[in-house]
Amino acid sequence: MNKAENIPQEEHNKWEAPTEQVKKPEQYNPISERVNQTYSSRLCEYVTGMKPENPELINRLQEDQKIIRSKYNLPNPDLPASEFERSLKEIAKKNGIEIRSKHEYSRLFDENPSVGAMSLDGGKVVVDLDRNSEKGYNKSLKQMEHEIVHGLQEKYAKSMPIEEMEYEAYLSNGNIQFLKDDPEAINEILFGTLIGGSVKIYYGAERCGRGEADSPVRHNPNYFIEKDAQAKTNQKKLRTEQDLKQIEEIRSKLGITKPASESK
Ligand SMILES: [Zn+2]
Repeated sequence: MNKAENIPQEEHNKWEAPTEQVKKPEQYNPISERVNQTYSSRLCEYVTGMKPENPELINRLQEDQKIIRSKYNLPNPDLPASEFERSLKEIAKKNGIEIRSKHEYSRLFDENPSVGAMSLDGGKVVVDLDRNSEKGYNKSLKQMEHEIVHGLQEKYAKSMPIEEMEYEAYLSNGNIQFLKDDPEAINEILFGTLIGGSVKIYYGAERCGRGEADSPVRHNPNYFIEKDAQAKTNQKKLRTEQDLKQIEEIRSKLGITKPASESK
């Protein structure tokens, strides 16, 4: 007999319908968090090793900006704009980077209407300077610098993943103060719209060009689950959560206890 049936009706109602539902605390589930992690958050973590909500990230961005600017010997951003332009063009020239105008490549821009400037294989950057207004001029100088960074990467760091290339190029002249004032913009604008947008265009172009499926490693939550597992267990060769489970099962079947550490 069911226990509830022995309780008087009045008590039974009370018992069945407690006035206040006891809420179970939401279980923290690292696997589902990884599966649900957004595109831009994955991109950020892939490049910086930090999630975009990490309050330490802004300092990292500020440091990285300094490193990138000094690594590529980019001109002082406080220079008058015309001086800055001259310096940029000198860097391009020294490194065999050709600056071409957009009308020469109008077909490419017609195909990609959201693209304002681009860099092409063989050390060519395609960008127009807007001399109609001070704002436009400064903006287009930033675009030129962005594309020159890509030109330098092609020359000196060709094997760099596209995600890092775009991170460097956008961060090189990103507005750190703006990101400090609005930390959500790190995820939404820097990694979402800007870096994310360029990376998506790249993979789209690559896919069309090579006929390969676009499956960048960071789109796979297992990439991060693996990193989590590695950090947690200090074990090698754990590709997925399933692998971890399987190993644990085998170990328990064989009665092996986890070694304190495994050699790398
Ligand atoms: Zn770019």
